Amino acid sequence: MKRIPTIADMKAACRQATRSGKTLGFVPTMGALHEGHLSLVRAAKARCDVTAVSIFVNPLQFAPTEDLDKYPRPLERDAGMLEQLGVDLLFLPTVDEMHPPGAQTHVQVNELSTKLDGASRPGHFRGVATVVTKLFEIVRPDCAFFGQKDAAQVAVLRKLVNDLDMDVEIVVCPIVREEDGLAMSSRNIYLTPEQRQQSLVLHRALMRVQTLADQGERSAARLIEVGMQVIAEEPAARLDYFAVVDPNTLDPVADVTHGSLVAVAAYFGTTRLIDNILLT
Ligand code: AMP
Repeated sequence: MKRIPTIADMKAACRQATRSGKTLGFVPTMGALHEGHLSLVRAAKARCDVTAVSIFVNPLQFAPTEDLDKYPRPLERDAGMLEQLGVDLLFLPTVDEMHPPGAQTHVQVNELSTKLDGASRPGHFRGVATVVTKLFEIVRPDCAFFGQKDAAQVAVLRKLVNDLDMDVEIVVCPIVREEDGLAMSSRNIYLTPEQRQQSLVLHRALMRVQTLADQGERSAARLIEVGMQVIAEEPAARLDYFAVVDPNTLDPVADVTHGSLVAVAAYFGTTRLIDNILLT
């Protein structure tokens, strides 16, 4: 596995890798890797000839009040995991390399960036769309792999790729969970043992909604009511949103259909966790 810190060298390595017609799969991450990330790498390996991963904690997508400084950066551990999986190229740019002082260009997917997590984290998806656009231009992957865990991000990036006619296929992989149901996240390490227990309420609420929908409940209002009741049973959880939306537009639906997105975000202490299900 080649570790590459500069944009120029990453471009050269990616162009070289695909020169003979090989396909290139790309997994952008912020590091602190867990099985969720590794599932994306495995999907990329299964689908493409060459696999590239980036680790970059992107300051543009953090608000000043958020956890940019304390975000975990276990680089050697991450690199070892990726090497073991047989990743070919690991892009490790610095902040100055990706966002040199004086840069003036941002990419913004307007409406979608204001929904769900975008509503609670103004500017977040502008930061995501900008860095992903840059990464796509550097790597020029055939396929890029993202987790369903970040459902709103998936909607934003699909729209970005479509609106800008980018030649990259967005592949979305299922949420990987801990055995007890908590969706894996790099931020789970912030949780105290008590909060770790309390956080299970998110999955419990989603499962309750899934069961109700399986039993034939179509009213989104009713499903939200029940989901929020379950969350309220855990007083330590501070709900940000509980929503039932169309997964592409992120607009609320009145009646659920196959594929409706049920998404939840809540704080446990200062740690904000998200989770979701797509109704079957
Ligand atoms: P991050 O490092 O948090 O930016 O995440 C990098 C990628 O991993 C994103 O596409 C996430 O959606 C994905 N991801 C994070 N957690 C999970 C998970 N539990 N299951 C599947 N994918 C995940």
